[in-house]
Amino acid sequence: MDAIVLGGGLMGTASAFFLARRGIRTTLIERNRIGTGATVASFGNIRRSGRYLPQLPLAHRSLALWNRAEALLGRDVEFRATGHLRLIFDADGLDLMRRFAEDARPWGLDLEELEPADIRRRFPGLGPEAIAASFSPNDGSANPRLVSPAFADAAARAGARILDETPVTAIRRTPAGFTLDTDRGCIEAEVLLNCAGAWGKAVAASFGEDVPLAAFGPQMAVTEPLPHRISPVVGVWSSAHGAYLRQVERGNVVFGGVVDRVPVDPLPGHARPDPGRLPAQLRQVVRLVPALRDVAVIRQWSGCEGYVEDMLPVMGPSATTAGLFHAFGFCGHGFQLGPGVGDAMADLIATGACETPLEPFHIARFAS
Ligand SMILES: Cc1cc2nc3c(=O)[nH]c(=O)nc-3n(C[C@H](O)[C@H](O)[C@H](O)COP(=O)(O)OP(=O)(O)OC[C@H]3O[C@@H](n4cnc5c(N)ncnc54)[C@H](O)[C@@H]3O)c2cc1C
Repeated sequence: MDAIVLGGGLMGTASAFFLARRGIRTTLIERNRIGTGATVASFGNIRRSGRYLPQLPLAHRSLALWNRAEALLGRDVEFRATGHLRLIFDADGLDLMRRFAEDARPWGLDLEELEPADIRRRFPGLGPEAIAASFSPNDGSANPRLVSPAFADAAARAGARILDETPVTAIRRTPAGFTLDTDRGCIEAEVLLNCAGAWGKAVAASFGEDVPLAAFGPQMAVTEPLPHRISPVVGVWSSAHGAYLRQVERGNVVFGGVVDRVPVDPLPGHARPDPGRLPAQLRQVVRLVPALRDVAVIRQWSGCEGYVEDMLPVMGPSATTAGLFHAFGFCGHGFQLGPGVGDAMADLIATGACETPLEPFHIARFAS
């Protein structure tokens, strides 16, 4: 069997890696540089708490792969299981956390509930006004700049052909499969996997599949480097859009959340940061870590991410076209899922089945 993976973000590169390891002749096509779509812009959070419950099996599968990333990829992509601390500032947040923790337990996720004294003792300086917190000890973060190139290089070593800076000008269904026209000639394969991120909607539409997806840019920023004091990824339980932050090992504190995401025109797909939204973010960041009050913010950025109306990705076989598969529209939470998505899609394509349930993400949910 041979396959074309369209899109060289985390989903495409991880899929190419796992497909090649299963012995499938794989070509990955990316129109820009590898990993320069939504993936490079990611906050890098590897978080399972707060997820749609039927997505937890995929999230667990992915976490197991993150834990093996260095051995699988032959390179450190800075995955660190530092734990994920989610602070709670009001009764609504506490209720939200407790309900999720109870519902998630049968799905294999155990959250520790922390009292204010536990927070002070275990995480001094974090959330002094918090009334409680959850802690998920096995979650953490990785470096979004490193991971797609690492998967692409490992895929190449496993036998995949990686074509970056290769725009696709036409996609055609043929009796034998698919032909993609590129400036490096026609690329043909039996199977086509659509990992085109926010642009996956257009690929699906060319096969008569309409997905209610819109592109938005979450607002991210980073401080100057500071002495390393914050070990876990820090977030908030809230029905509003809470702040989140983490300190990288070099000392900079990366943060996001709080404000609305900015709409992005997928063509050309340049997601811009909005400096006007920064003060609102900083007010919440200082609530999480008061010691950040006087630090300098040195950069803001954003990235073009596909958000599906029901906030769930599109994964699985096409509903219209044999041999076409989709894995796109990860709605701001795909970084954690990436390795698991690649492995699950390779399973599905190679064997026709996948032990991790993917039905809730099938494109047919929009058919009516
Ligand atoms: C600012 C920001 C912060 C985020 N933070 C987190 C987080 O902390 N935790 C988390 O779990 N998730 C997070 N996410 C979400 C996560 O980063 C994405 O869900 C994930 O990276 C999506 O990967 P992808 O491969 O589907 O898409 P992308 O990385 O966008 O890759 C798609 C690729 O397809 C290529 N492409 C599209 N069309 C074509 C074509 N016709 N021909 C050739 N190539 C094509 C594009 O150039 C692009 O490189 C964040 C996203 C953003 C934007």
